[in-house]
Amino acid sequence: MHVDLVDPAGRWQARLNAVTDSSLFPCFLGPYGENDNLLEKLVVEFLRDHVYWRRNLHPEDPPAIPTHAAQQPGFQAFESKLRRELHQLSAALKRSVPFHSQRYLGHMVSDLLIPGMAAQILTLPYNPNNVSDEAAPVTIDMEIEVGLQLARMIGYPSDPNQPACAFGHLTSGGTVANYQALRLALAIKAYPVALLAAAPPDLALPESDWAAFNLAPQQAIEHFVQAQAWMHSLPVAEARLWRQRIEVERIEQVGQVGFFARHPELRPPVVLVPATAHYSWSKGMKLLGLGRHQLLQVPEREMRLDADALERLLMELHAQRQPVLACVGILGSTEFGTVDPIDQLCAARDRWSQQGFGFAVHADAAWGGYLATLIRDPNGALRSREQVSREFARFPNPPTYSALAALQHTDSITIDPHKLGYLPYGAGAFVARDQRPFALLAESADYVFQESDHSDYFSRARALGQYIIEGSKSGAMAAAVCVTHRVMPLDHAHFGRLPAATIQATEHMRDAVAALREKLQGIARLVLPFEPDCNLICLAINPQGNRSLERCNRFMRQLHCEIRSDNGVARQDREYYGCVTTIRSDALGGEAMQGLLQQLGLDCGSPDEIERQDTRLIVLRHTLMNPFLIDEVNDRNYLDGYFEFLQRRVKALAGALQSADCRVTEDLSPLKPYATSARQAS
Ligand SMILES: *Cc1c(COP(=O)(O)O)cnc(C)c1O
Repeated sequence: MHVDLVDPAGRWQARLNAVTDSSLFPCFLGPYGENDNLLEKLVVEFLRDHVYWRRNLHPEDPPAIPTHAAQQPGFQAFESKLRRELHQLSAALKRSVPFHSQRYLGHMVSDLLIPGMAAQILTLPYNPNNVSDEAAPVTIDMEIEVGLQLARMIGYPSDPNQPACAFGHLTSGGTVANYQALRLALAIKAYPVALLAAAPPDLALPESDWAAFNLAPQQAIEHFVQAQAWMHSLPVAEARLWRQRIEVERIEQVGQVGFFARHPELRPPVVLVPATAHYSWSKGMKLLGLGRHQLLQVPEREMRLDADALERLLMELHAQRQPVLACVGILGSTEFGTVDPIDQLCAARDRWSQQGFGFAVHADAAWGGYLATLIRDPNGALRSREQVSREFARFPNPPTYSALAALQHTDSITIDPHKLGYLPYGAGAFVARDQRPFALLAESADYVFQESDHSDYFSRARALGQYIIEGSKSGAMAAAVCVTHRVMPLDHAHFGRLPAATIQATEHMRDAVAALREKLQGIARLVLPFEPDCNLICLAINPQGNRSLERCNRFMRQLHCEIRSDNGVARQDREYYGCVTTIRSDALGGEAMQGLLQQLGLDCGSPDEIERQDTRLIVLRHTLMNPFLIDEVNDRNYLDGYFEFLQRRVKALAGALQSADCRVTEDLSPLKPYATSARQAS
């Protein structure tokens, strides 16, 4: 720690005691590189350990690279060239965005957890490939364990001795996890139709293609399980025959064109997402061949999926006999951190399934998944809202708590360890509540489902490459995630300290908005567009007297220019880092948008006009991930510092906007085109 060594009055000790979470001190390299010793020790220790492993494999083999090789000119030339390149790389990387800093309040990234970094660096030279256990004898089990750790965190069945245990695996990110969700949901939905077409005797089958295609996912899985058990009871040759008969009817074999041509009663299904959905859903629909047209937006209320609107939409689709593949709820939207009513999506699924109109519910918790640590006791029990809320001012608001508690009822979930898991990039995760239908994704046709015992679960899952979208993949990443979850178990008393600290910081920022509004009186209007659900908070600002939306947006872009990571500006010259996003009328709704614009003092038309014109408002977006934003040890509050900075800059920019005409204002700071679409932010 960077503290005064002399502490006669016990001042520092008193402050240290006031810090609730000294448990977070060893977790990160730290904004100041405070834990450099720890990380360095670990890296060197385990690099040596790896070298001993090499030497001890066959110590009788002499060194292949001669001991004097390093003295040769060619070697030295190589090394100097390498050093030169590395120095250049290292120098260039100093232009990186300082994600680790408490002055970084922008995108969904922060410092990295030492357990993850150390485990990844340690594993790297062993280079395991988690495509199968043959190439990754150790880390593949760690990846399967990660799936179980995440399953336990959200409340899915996580006992591998149970046949319906959850199963999860890592992906390169949330995007690919979302693809996997679509792929698995389609496999489950279409399987009963194939089964019906193959017409095996002795099995209770749905009465029509329509009924078969619109089962609840859990019912479809039961059909699959029964069919497997039945085939298992047959003589081997007969079982193979039936397996082939079913196989040739499957959508994965005949393709969508062939499948829907054979079943004219059916249509390609639609996927329902809120307007705040990440663009990976659009990509996924294209990739799966369902097409973007099949991606339907459910209207929202205050940036959260509107369950009533969903109900109306489902009624309409049901009347049109338009099947639904899945309804996606977002736990922590990428742009606003808002939480969809996952509980109500699950209720809608259960209600509609009973009417023979089933669909899957997938939680896109790429951002918010780890918030579930806060509702989990170390013994795995669900904590009540009262228990959770004890250490917060407002969190979790009742809808957010209900959504978190309902995650266990979803069919599958996306969680990004490389976001709120504070792990290096390249770590997303997909978890399905029931492992059994994963067999439907297997590349080899002779998948066999048996009543599982613990060893079966692992041995089946070890053929990971069969089930995932990627092929070869990093075992070092699995080690990083698994070790992190072992060192910091996914409950409120351990890993949960981290999101707890950042939500407390968000609540502090939320409470400071009123004071900032006061200080900006007569200079600008400051509006909180909606209450934060977790640790993401947006702010809208409009210079006093300005009534034009376009001018307001221009003002916000200028403000953004002062906090964006700009390659032309030295890192030290930036006081704070932040980002912006746009609030669109189609997401917020015309009426709410009108209310927001009016609060800002902007001219605007009727809610209808606002929606028709696709009105967009640029707002500041702050992702609070750094656990040291409120540094009680040094009595520094970076959020207060940021608000002082905002006050200063808003004053200056608003003054310029008032005293000069627009053209001159624009010249004040050469505007970079607002090119990187905010929706593409990570
Ligand atoms: C970040 C994010 C994604 C995409 O995840 P990547 O890891 O960037 O591929 C998907 N959905 C949500 C809600 C996200 O926040």
